Amino acid sequence: MSSRDVGESMEGRGGEINERRETKMKGCQLSFKRQIAFRSGLTLVELLLVSGIITLLAGICWIAYTSVKEKALLIICRNNFHQIYLAVQKYRDDYDGIDPNGRPLSWSEVGLPYPFMTGLIRDGYIKAGSPILHCPIGERVLKAKLEEIERHMGRRLDLIIISSYGYPANLPPHNPSKQIAEHFSQCVVQKRSQVAILGDHWHNPPRPPEAPPIPTPLFPQWELVLRLDGQVDWVLVTDGKACR
Ligand SMILES: [Zn+2]
Repeated sequence: MSSRDVGESMEGRGGEINERRETKMKGCQLSFKRQIAFRSGLTLVELLLVSGIITLLAGICWIAYTSVKEKALLIICRNNFHQIYLAVQKYRDDYDGIDPNGRPLSWSEVGLPYPFMTGLIRDGYIKAGSPILHCPIGERVLKAKLEEIERHMGRRLDLIIISSYGYPANLPPHNPSKQIAEHFSQCVVQKRSQVAILGDHWHNPPRPPEAPPIPTPLFPQWELVLRLDGQVDWVLVTDGKACR
């Protein structure tokens, strides 16, 4: 065998090897591509599953979070009422308290000057601007409204008191004051200290868990009230005239 022959046979073998290599490579590429296709398919399913689970968990957490937050706001609100009641009690102690004597009382006889919140603040029983004068929800809403008005007017407004607590919805809430005073006095005579003196309509639950069974309401809206005896109750707003 000459050296030329050897060279040729070497070339021939080299070509064979190269061909084999190429086929192998092609095979590898194909199986790799298949693998990718297979893997990406799985990943997509996994991804959908994971995102589904995350959405579900987020939903559950959000519901739990909002209900915890609502409960916390309600606790703050009830505590505000308790603080206001302590101020009312102090006022009544200082001004001979309430005793209906079988006849309608005036606001001053009851120990709560009209409007009594202003009286409590004016006479120093509650600090002006104290956070206990506001439902945490109501305060937020009122602040937003005030900002809107300020934007509209283009200047800052100096409001000393924005009270988010008011007269209970079924005590006549507007002037004339004589009408309210008479109505309030009659309520006190009828129901003594069971009468509601302060109302908060910001929570409005469909039905509070501790609510007593009640007849069909005209306006199915719950209001949290502070009674003259310091009790805090859920009350259904009815016809705006009831003495509750
Ligand atoms: Zn409240």
